[in-house]
Amino acid sequence: MTAADSRSLKTDQDQDETTRAAEPAPVSEREARQTAEAAREAEWRKPSFGKQLFLGRLRLELIDPWPTPSAQSVAEAERFLARVAEYAETHIDNAQIERDASIPDEVLRGLADLGAFGMKIDKEYGGLGLSTHAYCQALTMLSSANSSVSALLSAHQSIGVPQPLKLFGTEEQKSRFLPRLAAGEISAFLLTEPDVGSDPARLATTAEPVDGGYRLNGLKLWATNGTVADLLVVMAQVPRSEGHRGGITAFVVEADSSGITVERRNAFLGLRGLENSLTRFHDVFVPAENVIGREGQGLKIALTTLNTGRLSLPAVCVAAGKYCLRVAREWSGARVQWGRPVGKHEAIATKIAFIAATTYGLEAMLTLSCLLADDESNDIRIEAALVKLYASEMAWRIADETLQIRGGRGYETAESLAARGERSTPIEQVLRDLRINRVFEGSTEIMHLFVAREAVDAHLAVAGDIIDPDATVGRKARAGVKAGGFYARWLPALAVGKGQLPRGYAEFGPLATHLRYVERASRRLARDTFYGMARWQGRMERKQAFLGRVVDIGAELFAMSAACTRARAEGAAEGWELADLFCHQARVRVDALFTALWDNNDARDAAAARKVLDGRYASLEAGILADDDDRPWVASWSTGPTEATDVRRRLRR
Ligand SMILES: Cc1cc2nc3c(=O)[nH]c(=O)nc-3n(C[C@H](O)[C@H](O)[C@H](O)COP(=O)(O)OP(=O)(O)OC[C@H]3O[C@@H](n4cnc5c(N)ncnc54)[C@H](O)[C@@H]3O)c2cc1C
Repeated sequence: MTAADSRSLKTDQDQDETTRAAEPAPVSEREARQTAEAAREAEWRKPSFGKQLFLGRLRLELIDPWPTPSAQSVAEAERFLARVAEYAETHIDNAQIERDASIPDEVLRGLADLGAFGMKIDKEYGGLGLSTHAYCQALTMLSSANSSVSALLSAHQSIGVPQPLKLFGTEEQKSRFLPRLAAGEISAFLLTEPDVGSDPARLATTAEPVDGGYRLNGLKLWATNGTVADLLVVMAQVPRSEGHRGGITAFVVEADSSGITVERRNAFLGLRGLENSLTRFHDVFVPAENVIGREGQGLKIALTTLNTGRLSLPAVCVAAGKYCLRVAREWSGARVQWGRPVGKHEAIATKIAFIAATTYGLEAMLTLSCLLADDESNDIRIEAALVKLYASEMAWRIADETLQIRGGRGYETAESLAARGERSTPIEQVLRDLRINRVFEGSTEIMHLFVAREAVDAHLAVAGDIIDPDATVGRKARAGVKAGGFYARWLPALAVGKGQLPRGYAEFGPLATHLRYVERASRRLARDTFYGMARWQGRMERKQAFLGRVVDIGAELFAMSAACTRARAEGAAEGWELADLFCHQARVRVDALFTALWDNNDARDAAAARKVLDGRYASLEAGILADDDDRPWVASWSTGPTEATDVRRRLRR
């Protein structure tokens, strides 16, 4: 029996004062939604291309021409990227990291010497102060060397201590922590718990106010960098009490504080070098000055941090696209079957075209979003969410198609290929490493809901009370008047637009036709969203398949806009061709999604899923050897001192 098992078997009487069973508090769907809603940034202080797109307005002037970074920042970025490339080529051994499931300490030291741990930290605190664009380019480069390396640096800088401190930290916190992190100390972000994945309302880790600070108790699961980190961002519930507004709060915690135990290093399908932990907090003292922002602001801080933090994940996806394109090109030209290179068989040719066009589209979306983030003139929270969602889904398809193009060799490991004297192309690793991108930093399903919430926000703002079951008759009536005025102006505006003019967007030459399509599709999307609201009203939030398609259409339209404006910004002949190709492919997907909005099996599928869950079709599972593991799906745990050995790895510095 493991320590965790023995803890979970304790009875109430067994538990002394320092040990409490952390049974998940029952949290209703409504409470979960309220928690998410309270964490949402409700204000829009800057224009948002993405938000307008869902409202039926193609505000191309917000993204065209692309913002131009200063010559100095471009030069700085180029110098840094050249050093990163040279270092990665000579020091990062992907095969070794895969084999040892560990990034060597000297590689981490080398990266720290380059300044890679302080890419996003301002120069005054010892960092490089790079732009978001340069940071993402560096992650793309490093990810092509090894995905665990880029995952470590991205978790450290995009969600770890530097970014929330940059946005919400006090001057004292910044000068105390940032120089350490820029110099190579590692940070991690600890939100997830055994019972808290997509739903933070269930957060069970507590931070009890004590003299001079707080006492943390709880168990944090799957913290990337958690086994090697020096500084942690920990999300914990502060109970409401006199002088304490309470709520989920973000803390900076020294990883070697007394009471912290790294109980396990977790292992995964991919990202073999990931240093990911199960971390226990038992009566860990955190000084009051380590609270980031205010009590109760934790989730808002996490979400705001992710507004730009989310861009690092698509940077990794772009690397995968570029690598797959290269493999697909070289292999498909060289491999001859049935008398021709496989790339000349149409079934493979269409895959190659998909990989090339999609890689162009992904890079366009990412670069544009980064430039907008650096330029600071737009609110990019929707764009960043759309790129995360779209890039993680499309990169997975790219890798899957590349594996198919490689045939049996796509399924073979790089080590095995090399042992047979063939080129060690780790496509199976690319696939394994990419898969998690659809799950973490907001799963695809949660990103759909996140963006959909913003897409229907205009409707909720005017008509929210009409569809709120708890609203009084008076509130409903007032909302009805307000909504009537809004829709009387808005709906007619969706009937006509520049996309119907034969010369609309002529400045885009051969791509003008695609932008006219985007403009028309944006209005159609807004109309369809409105029809959905009118039809389902308060039940709309449960129409996840419908909302998912609305968001996917928005993502495609943003991708097309990014591809066209990229082609114009860069002016390269091959860029015009790739943008055109990408838009043609995207239009086929968008048309299919529009059709599926109203012609689908959603209701039938939902009913069938209920029957599956009720066990009606369990007989279908007969005929295989099912495992008889009767342990729980989610292990129960209790607060209290650890019974495990600390497996924290202290790096040789
Ligand atoms: C390799 C790895 C690294 C990670 N790194 C970190 C880290 O550094 N820090 C950290 O805090 N966490 C980290 N995580 C946790 C990660 O963020 C979570 O796995 C993710 O949030 C999803 O939570 P979950 O796995 O508990 O899935 P669940 O929340 O249990 O969801 C299960 C499934 O249901 C879907 N779902 C859930 N709710 C809804 C809903 N309302 N509507 C529709 N579908 C829904 C989900 O999309 C998913 O498909 C990491 C995880 C992994 C595997």
